[in-house]
Parts: sequence; structure tokens; C-alpha cells
Amino acid sequence: MSLDRYNRQVLFSALGEEGQQRICRATAVVAGCGALGSAIANALARAGVGSLRVIDRDVVEESNLHRQVLFDEQDCRENLPKAVAAQAKLRLANSSIAVTGVVTDINPANVEQLIAGADVVVDGTDNFETRFLLNDACVKHGVPWVYGGAVGSTGMTMTIVPGQTPCLRCVFESPPAPGMSPTCETAGILGALPGVIGNWQASEALKICAGRRDAVCTQLVTIDLWTCEVRQFNVAGARDQGSCPCCHSRRFEFLEGKAASTSTGLCGRHAVQINPRTGGALDLQALAARLRANAAVSAVVASRFLLKFTAPSADTGSQQQTEAARGTLPGQQGLEFTVFPDCRAIIKGTTDVTEARTAYAKYIGA
Ligand SMILES: [Zn+2]
Repeated sequence: MSLDRYNRQVLFSALGEEGQQRICRATAVVAGCGALGSAIANALARAGVGSLRVIDRDVVEESNLHRQVLFDEQDCRENLPKAVAAQAKLRLANSSIAVTGVVTDINPANVEQLIAGADVVVDGTDNFETRFLLNDACVKHGVPWVYGGAVGSTGMTMTIVPGQTPCLRCVFESPPAPGMSPTCETAGILGALPGVIGNWQASEALKICAGRRDAVCTQLVTIDLWTCEVRQFNVAGARDQGSCPCCHSRRFEFLEGKAASTSTGLCGRHAVQINPRTGGALDLQALAARLRANAAVSAVVASRFLLKFTAPSADTGSQQQTEAARGTLPGQQGLEFTVFPDCRAIIKGTTDVTEARTAYAKYIGA
């Protein structure tokens, strides 16, 4: 294979021709393709990572565009799943690599299959439950992964090489309780921040792909772009001194213990995800036809990738009166469904899991 297009990277002596050839043969998984994932996938594709798997469960929205650099207004108008839009953009950036976009929710039932064959997994997720799950799966299978998070003006990252460095559970014993940590939806985010953190993560991933594990960062790093404070925490002792259930006892609690969880409130988004994990495929066009015949349902739009519609919420009357009185939620009435062919649905307009499950059963079928 000609390495001409990677000439400037080959000239960088720490990589050289051998490092580049290894990168070209490597497989990387980008778990989550929002702001961090956009930056990560963009950097890895352009660097020539031979096989790139980009996984995301969500759809491009206008409020994503200030920071999620792989997407544009057209993707938004077309209601494209992020993994589909990302796959198209990355193939345009580099046609010599294999890029696969996967529209799915990463969960205990599919995570091991999703990371199979990966030389490195890079974290572009937006929640700790999925990160602890990735941590379990990666430690179990000995796959290095690069944690990253960004909110407000502060980002954090750590590279995890199983058997060599502390894992996520060595450093943070368990995920924060729901609602206890700030999210981009509640605290906002500086649009430039995910670019900084995501490219840091991509750089770490490229070291691993190039066979240079000796060069990875062994510390937990935080960067505040507003105060310009960069801090490094020495966490090396956390693995040897601690009693991490994951590294030491090889108990993979997130992988094994939570397989039954199928409904999740999406943090800070006033939305709930329902994932029946039946393995069945939904005929979106047939469902759309059925919903169009239902007088209570409106705004039914179906594409190859998803089906959107709006349905009344359980307590529509009182809720709308309250909202109208407060004037807080203009135009937001009822529940906005986004349904995917794998039977998964994201239901906006509620944080009540029971209400969302009831509505799912009513309009889609249990
Ligand atoms: Zn550990």
C-alpha cells in the first residue's frame, strides 16, 4: 500500500514508516459519535486507521452543530442517525480505509461483539454507565481504551491499558448517581473543548495502533480551557494499591449484572430510551402506515433509518396547562418518538420511565 498520503505523519520520527503501516492495519472502535466522537473519528480516519467502527444511538439535531464537527445542516434536515452521517463524511475524508457506522445503543448484551477485533476503543460516550460497561468489556478482553469527557469548559481524559495501567474502576469506584454530575445539557459546553479532548484521545489511540504503548499518557489529565489550567494526576498506584473488582477480582459487574435494564432516562435530555433488545427487526414503513391512521398521532415521518412521530403524553391536559402558564416549553406538546429498526426508541418530552414504557407499548407495541 502506498503511504504517500500519510507522508507528513511518516516524517514524524516517533511513528515513521513502520508506525504508519501498523496504523493502516489497525482496527479502532469509536464508542459514541457526538462532539468527542466527531473529533476522534475524524482524526483516526485521516491518520489512516485501516478499519474504523463508529457506534452511536442518536440522531443529528441542530443544537449539536456548534461542536459536533462531522455533521451539518443537511444531516439535520434529513434526520440522519449520527453513525450514518459520520460514515458518509469519513469515507469522503479517506476512501482508502474501511468505515462502518453502527446505529445502536451500547449495552451489556452487545458490547463484547461491538469491540471484537479492536486494537483500541475510544470513548465518545456521554454517560458513566456506558463508560463502566466499556471498561468491563475492555479489561475482560485485554483491549486498551481511552476515556474522555467534556462539559462546561473542562475536559478529562485517561488512557487505560489493561494489565499495565489502572482501569476506570481503579480510579472511580462507581458511576456518579444520576443527576449528580453536570451534563452538556444542564451546564452547557464550550464548542472548542471536545476538539481538544477528542484529539488528545485520538493521539493516544494512534500511539496504541502504532505499537507504541510505551508512549501513552499514564496520568489522569484535566484541561480547563477557560482558566487555562492543565492538571495531571498520578494514578499509577491506584491499580497496585487498590482492590479493583474489575482488574483484581475479574468481576465484571456492569457487563454481567445489568443485562435486564432496558429503559434508561437520557441524562439532562428530558428523554427516555426504551430498548426491548428482542433482536427483532421493525418494519418502519408498516408502522408508519398504522400510525398515520391513528388520529391521536401527528407528524409521522419515516426514512430508511428511523421513524419519527408525536403522540399525546399521559397527562397532556394538566401538563400543557402548567407549561402554558409558565411559558417555559413553547411548542413542546406530548411525546416525540424516534424509533429505530432494531425496535429501540428515544422518547422526548418525559423523564418518567413508566410513562415512556406505557407510551411505547401503546403506539409501537410491547
Ligand atoms: Zn481496575
